[in-house]
Amino acid sequence: MRRKIVAGNWKMNLTFQEAKELALRLNTWVKANKPTAEVIIAPTHLYLEQLNKDLKNSHITVASQNVSAMENGAYTGDVSAEQLLSIGTKMSIVGHSERRAYHYEQDKYIGKKITHLYELGMSPILCVGEKLEDRDAGKHFDVVQEQVTVALERQKEEDLKNLIVAYEPVWAIGTGKTASPDQAQEMHAFIRKTIGAQHGISIANSTSILYGGSVNPGNARDLFEQYDIDGGLVGGASLKLEDFTTIISAN
Ligand code: 13P
Repeated sequence: MRRKIVAGNWKMNLTFQEAKELALRLNTWVKANKPTAEVIIAPTHLYLEQLNKDLKNSHITVASQNVSAMENGAYTGDVSAEQLLSIGTKMSIVGHSERRAYHYEQDKYIGKKITHLYELGMSPILCVGEKLEDRDAGKHFDVVQEQVTVALERQKEEDLKNLIVAYEPVWAIGTGKTASPDQAQEMHAFIRKTIGAQHGISIANSTSILYGGSVNPGNARDLFEQYDIDGGLVGGASLKLEDFTTIISAN
């Protein structure tokens, strides 16, 4: 079963007070409106413990934006999967293009993060997506295929049930430029096919593939209507309650 999901990646935004207020208001909205889509928020690591407590019995999942590829030890500034789990966090975004661009993270290393999460019974949201130059050169399918297959090649099939992948074309992130519903559908179908070839049809058909990149209240419905688009990973628009809830309702 493919889950419908709308996730908000808050990135390095919001003070603690702002984040708490937004989370609580979102929780009130979710309780009142009971959306069909699952709702996930990913605040900075710093706020996870408190927001986990605040949203404990809610229908909102609090995810981390990143996790270390190492188990534990001398990795200054990093946060391990075990540490996340010890404060109640069970899900983490991995391989976001901003981590790939500014911290030089590569597919194998991202695969290690996924393995650590699975070892502890946690789950990843694997982000993939091509740069503008890849698309202009007609290499976007090759690039995304490599990102998906390398990150998932060492994972056990039983762990990959209910996998979440986010397709986020780098040229659409924070630029106001969205992939057209057709462009996104084409890539989502390709990602599903790639996962199917590597891990079998049943895993491909239980993978939720989210679109990310300038999703807003105006374009969400057209994107989410596409057959292989199971929801969105939303950056900027997830910071405004009204925009985010409109996007959630569109799924
Ligand atoms: P924007 O929605 O701000 O383009 O960001 C998308 C994103 O990177 C979500 O992870």
